[in-house]
Amino acid sequence: MLIDAHVHLDKYGDLLDAALKEIETDNIFTVATAMDVPSYLQLQEIGKRSNLVLPTFGIHPRRAAEYSERLHEIGRYVEASPAIGEIGLDFHWVKDASTYPAQRKVLDYFIAAAAEQNKFVNLHTKAGEKEILDLLEKYDVRRAIIHWYSGPMDILRAMVDYGCYFTIGVEVLYSDYIKSIAKAVPDHLLLTETDNPGAFRWLKKNDAVGMPTAIKVVLEGVAELRQSTPETIESLVQENFARLVANDPWLRAIGSRFFQ
Ligand SMILES: [Zn+2]
Repeated sequence: MLIDAHVHLDKYGDLLDAALKEIETDNIFTVATAMDVPSYLQLQEIGKRSNLVLPTFGIHPRRAAEYSERLHEIGRYVEASPAIGEIGLDFHWVKDASTYPAQRKVLDYFIAAAAEQNKFVNLHTKAGEKEILDLLEKYDVRRAIIHWYSGPMDILRAMVDYGCYFTIGVEVLYSDYIKSIAKAVPDHLLLTETDNPGAFRWLKKNDAVGMPTAIKVVLEGVAELRQSTPETIESLVQENFARLVANDPWLRAIGSRFFQ
């Protein structure tokens, strides 16, 4: 089974039907991460259309400033969601430093909630890698997916020691640094993502729409780097995701699907 552990399904617009069709045809288990409240509400509707789609609630660091004084309004979405994401810090692409305290406040809120509710988290870590690891340790949140990691190698190693999972995505086809990360993640912590529909657009600065089957290209790229085969990487990733959600009180039904 293919695993896409970080996707923005609510951003497909007119191509949503086509995206869901690919997910069903190729049997791609899809963690559909939200950016904010409207995004999560949309994902909840999309999730009703496929049991391969897991909608999760989070506030993206880009949106944190809008929510930092309204956290009491979002508790019910956190509680409704089986996992937490996309959340995180971005001190690199987000240039407006006046939003950084809000980012920290919102992230702290979500990590505390994940600890309390025993949910896994899906994290954006751009230039906030060390701070994020410190927070995971502070709240003893053990089940974390680090999405599209591109930070320093020493923090990567510390995150590996802590037991974080890493989603490798389409940039593995283009960047030497991401290739070195895709090689450095140990077998038992390796996951895959597309971050579509926008990942190719982001990388190539064009208007390409990335579809869910791009996950197969990721598998090929990762397999080549690790001197393996796409089939072997696919089963490794499935095994890893199954371990991440094993005994998860919120995902029991899904967990059983992976152990068949
Ligand atoms: Zn994302």
